[in-house]
Amino acid sequence: MASPASELLVHQAAIHTNAAHFAALTGGRLLAVVKADAFGHGHAEAARAVLDAGAGWLGVASVEEALALRAAGIRAPVLSWLNPLDADLGAAIAAEVDLAVASPALLGAVSRAAILQRRRARVHLHLDLGMARDGCPRGGWSALCELAHELERQDAVRVVGIMGHLSCADVVGHPQTRLERQRFVNAVLAARRRRLRPAVVHLAATAATVTGEGAGFGLHRIGAGLFGIDPSGTSAALRPALSLTTRVAGARELEPGGGVGYGLEHRAERRTNLALLPLGYADGLPRSAAGRAEVLVRGRRCPLVGRFSMDMVVVDTGGEQVRPGEPVTVFGPGDDGEPTVADWAGWAGTIPHEIVTRIGSRVARVARTTGSTAAARAVGSTGAARAAGSTAVRTAGG
Ligand SMILES: *Cc1c(COP(=O)(O)O)cnc(C)c1O
Repeated sequence: MASPASELLVHQAAIHTNAAHFAALTGGRLLAVVKADAFGHGHAEAARAVLDAGAGWLGVASVEEALALRAAGIRAPVLSWLNPLDADLGAAIAAEVDLAVASPALLGAVSRAAILQRRRARVHLHLDLGMARDGCPRGGWSALCELAHELERQDAVRVVGIMGHLSCADVVGHPQTRLERQRFVNAVLAARRRRLRPAVVHLAATAATVTGEGAGFGLHRIGAGLFGIDPSGTSAALRPALSLTTRVAGARELEPGGGVGYGLEHRAERRTNLALLPLGYADGLPRSAAGRAEVLVRGRRCPLVGRFSMDMVVVDTGGEQVRPGEPVTVFGPGDDGEPTVADWAGWAGTIPHEIVTRIGSRVARVARTTGSTAAARAVGSTGAARAAGSTAVRTAGG
């Protein structure tokens, strides 16, 4: 197979280091969040790295994501927290996947699926602390706890955990965080009064963990931080884990006054050189970053010019006449002067999470197991790595 023009290198060592940092910071109470294909980093490879680094649990949104981890041979405890009533709850229960539950209707569906499986479903009751999003509204908490207790007595479910999620933890010292913490404490007490005995309670995600404002509970659900993203902007300890590289697809000169791309929105002020990159918004380069974004060419930052197209963008290399096939770094950890994911998020007016989760399926994902000279091994959502050891296998998709 010809080597693809664009690659997303996943630095497994960075994920491992970040996970070890959070395992230490949380005293080993780390639930590693690997939803959305581990924030675009490859769910199975990332899961193995974080488990090796000390995570005791994994967390995902949907049952499908949880079952994909099981299909990859991962046996660690997995929690899935966002499912519709008609999700494949039976398959989840059979695969020993914990299910978060935020409504009596879903709790009923989980218990029926458990009875059919002749097993007890392991559930985590999920309370909305203020976001008006995915937890149980506070007014319904008592009824949810009561139903859970009743279903425990019927041996259909076991309430393993209680969870909440903070709305404003990325803003250090936000008064809402203290309010929501208190709501959570009260909800756990209310559940205990209903004779529920959860083994784990969990509130904090990355932001509240690095600021310390989510301390004092059981598990910490860490997603972004594993991948070098700190929503609170207070931790210097985290390493970015992705590099996006491509190769020049074509090069040409541009006369003064010449336009570039759709609408000819960009015009050259002086004679310059252009290079075509075979990556566009379908591959995850946000169109809103046009006019600000830069890439690294021959060790130098060069601006992308003109509107972004679906499949391509154009870089102004100034006095440098680059050749087709030359490597270009779109983003990376920043060690060699290349832009970072955080830079791209700033240029696009978004958060780093959105940049890393939107890299398109045409870009080959390559897991780098150690330093830059190490053997690379492909990762894919389908678990399609076809070789191990020192052979580099690249798969599109994931
Ligand atoms: C995504 C998610 C997390 C992880 O949050 P980060 O800020 O990425 O650490 C934790 N809990 C829930 C419920 C989530 O949806």
